[in-house]
Amino acid sequence: MMNIPDDADARRAVKPVICYPTEALPRPDMALLQRASAAAQLGARVVVPPRDAAAIRVPAGHILRISAVEGPQVGDLNLFAADNLDERFYSGKTRALHGTHVTTGDQLWSSFPYLRPMATIVADTLGWYGIDAFGGSVHDVIGTRCDPYTGRLLSAVDYHHCCHSNLTRALADAAGLSLTQAERHVHDVLNVFMCTGFTRDTGQYFMKASPVRPGDYLDLFAEIDLLAVLSACPGGDCSAEHSSDAAACCPLVMEQRVPQAGHLDGWVPPAVNAYDGSHGR
Ligand SMILES: [Zn+2]
Repeated sequence: MMNIPDDADARRAVKPVICYPTEALPRPDMALLQRASAAAQLGARVVVPPRDAAAIRVPAGHILRISAVEGPQVGDLNLFAADNLDERFYSGKTRALHGTHVTTGDQLWSSFPYLRPMATIVADTLGWYGIDAFGGSVHDVIGTRCDPYTGRLLSAVDYHHCCHSNLTRALADAAGLSLTQAERHVHDVLNVFMCTGFTRDTGQYFMKASPVRPGDYLDLFAEIDLLAVLSACPGGDCSAEHSSDAAACCPLVMEQRVPQAGHLDGWVPPAVNAYDGSHGR
């Protein structure tokens, strides 16, 4: 028998407080970054094939544009400091600071002990979506990435083109690592264009058909030199299933866009976190 205390309703009625009020966070100069991004010119362009991944290097002060091109498609993004794979995107802390889904004005934070903005979102053509009636929204930092281990647990089938494996192969090629070495650096992703939430009744992670259409894009202003690795998820628009070849899949495109001379005057790349690392000793 479950013991329900007499004051259960009163305890449930306690109002929540925001864990990390972000008013104290240093804010990027959005007007400056957005002006520079809007006038930036195409540098490099990389096509991410369906059910596969690709990598691109984006210097600090340049823009990484991720675009849908042929049809609705979700992308799983890993970010690294270009010269130090130990500094990588920290999905959990980004979620704690900005919420379950990110859009223009939010920043993508790096792992401890660095904890600094790796990128600032300066444009999001799906920014209009907001939060739908199911509690779903776009560009989540709650999912992890589809992977062959969970697939094995749930279906006893080995599928090699999950985002985890795609990211592992692409990082290995980009960084000159073995698959075993590269896999250790692959981390929880930013789910670009993916529409997700938690069910209200059971609290389960859900996905639904992405509202992304060809021509939609997400622009990330690189605050530091970045190595970006993106998988075009085998789930396609993630309307039904992933971890198989069943879904229709489309390519994605990554572009490095170069700001014009003088457009970033006054912008300074963020330093690594100032905590002294002594941990009380
Ligand atoms: Zn995936």
